[in-house]
Amino acid sequence: MKYRSSESTDISEKYLAPTDVKQYVFCPRVTYFTRVMRLKPVMGSQQEAGKKTHKKLTDLEKRRQSVLKSDLNLDIRNKEFEISLKCHELEMHGRLDMLLETKDGEFIPVEFKSMISRKGQLHVDHKYQLVTLSLLLECNLGCIVRRGIIHYIPEELTIQFPISHSIKRRTKFVMKSIQNMILSGNIPDGRRECSMQKVGCGFADYCRDL
Ligand code: SF4
Repeated sequence: MKYRSSESTDISEKYLAPTDVKQYVFCPRVTYFTRVMRLKPVMGSQQEAGKKTHKKLTDLEKRRQSVLKSDLNLDIRNKEFEISLKCHELEMHGRLDMLLETKDGEFIPVEFKSMISRKGQLHVDHKYQLVTLSLLLECNLGCIVRRGIIHYIPEELTIQFPISHSIKRRTKFVMKSIQNMILSGNIPDGRRECSMQKVGCGFADYCRDL
């Protein structure tokens, strides 16, 4: 499994970002490297190419040529793109790729990913990232987010999933764990898979040196 590199984490910011939550769920040590040691990952050419594809897709969606699967059965009233969000209560900030508003007044966050899914399923870290963005949306708009959408660009696969109270609670627990890790400065364990197989992670060299 390849490490999805952070393209948006601003390590100089005090507030956490949804990318921090995504990384922590993928491997807590990645968040330790970016937030405590303030290191930047070594990005491969595939990751750089992925960033360009992501930009192209959000631009395409902006021109109203929808790339999302049409069988989602959503009655859309409005779409907004690249929305900046900030919540003082959560000490979080982030940017959402796309926000759908249905004719019933429901808000649905959408993220585009320049990589493939986990055999047709969501990557768990992507799910937590979108739930974090949902919490930011709730904080900014005073709404309740009940579902989210992730679109995997290379497969043209759109996955819609429910966002329950329980996943929101677990996401807040992850945020708290990150804040505690930053305060303590303690290095967390890495991914167990790393000891068994090579993981394409931008911090592998630093990790080996520990
Ligand atoms: S090399 Fe493995 S354990 Fe180390 S930071 Fe990367 S994913 Fe985590």
